[in-house]
Amino acid sequence: MTARIIDGKLIAAELRARVADEVARVQREHDLTPGLAVVLVGNDPASEVYVRSKHKQTQAAGMASFEHVLPADVTQEKLIGLIGRLNRDPAVHGILVQLPLPKGLDTEAVIAAIDPAKDVDGLHPNNAGRLAGGLPALSPCTPLGCIILTKSIHESLEGMDALVIGRSNLVGRPLVQLLLNENATVTIAHSRSRDLPDLCRRADLVYAAVGKPEMVRGDWIKPGATVIDVGITRLPSDDGKTRLVGDVAFTEALAIAGAITPVPGGVGQMTVACLLVNTLRAACAIRGLPPPAV
Ligand code: NAP
Repeated sequence: MTARIIDGKLIAAELRARVADEVARVQREHDLTPGLAVVLVGNDPASEVYVRSKHKQTQAAGMASFEHVLPADVTQEKLIGLIGRLNRDPAVHGILVQLPLPKGLDTEAVIAAIDPAKDVDGLHPNNAGRLAGGLPALSPCTPLGCIILTKSIHESLEGMDALVIGRSNLVGRPLVQLLLNENATVTIAHSRSRDLPDLCRRADLVYAAVGKPEMVRGDWIKPGATVIDVGITRLPSDDGKTRLVGDVAFTEALAIAGAITPVPGGVGQMTVACLLVNTLRAACAIRGLPPPAV
């Protein structure tokens, strides 16, 4: 058996096209142009690449994109001051502070300064708490993407056994809440979990969000399971360049799983597309409009 490969690139492109249609509709019907502000502090090359891609895709969806680049030695007060101005700016409906922040800045305080209604990364404690309480919330983009990819295979996740490996605020924890909202039965594993292979073998749905290349082996997978690989590690390749590797031993898993996301071309593609969804949703909510049809 060979697993079906879940085409994150295609699914993300379809989602971006649906967002663009909805953006055009709210512009036409309500004179509303959703706006996303991205704040980049310092010049970390990986962060610069992500910010450029967010900027391009935001504009391509017909939204307004505002970029704010601050030096790595910016003070906490200046950064929080900028967030305050973006909170008050009526053209801005989503605020994203690119993480990680340079040393010396208090990430928690910076996230807490974002207006929860504009917190399109879903990291503000209000949104995390609302999500955990089963209330409507802006949810983190990568877990949202994981759910969309899973639902491209399974119409309903009700009653399925899901294993989430990793418990970060960015991925693992919110993913657990989203899976509960889908009525899956969820187990969350982490570095102190015992017998991870055995936990994995019981799961119909496996989400690996660890950051350890090829940690999940093929013989950990239940035959026919759906495997969503969130992990991204850049490793040197034979040709002297680098390659991206996921948390799942892809070739091994391909022979056993029912469906699997590749790295690259899987979850990574969905994160920015879901950021656009969150920005559109935030803009509609702030304007008092019904939620968009995405
Ligand atoms: P993180 O904050 O470092 O969290 C990693 C989690 O993995 C922690 O909960 C840790 O457990 C757990 N872990 C570490 N070693 C383990 C082991 N041997 N067995 C089981 N669990 C173990 O990372 P993150 O931000 O969630 O990101 C995880 C991966 O996803 C990274 O590769 C990252 O690059 C990738 N990522 C991809 C996207 C995307 O768009 N595709 C977005 C975000 C992240 P403890 O809590 O016990 O330490």
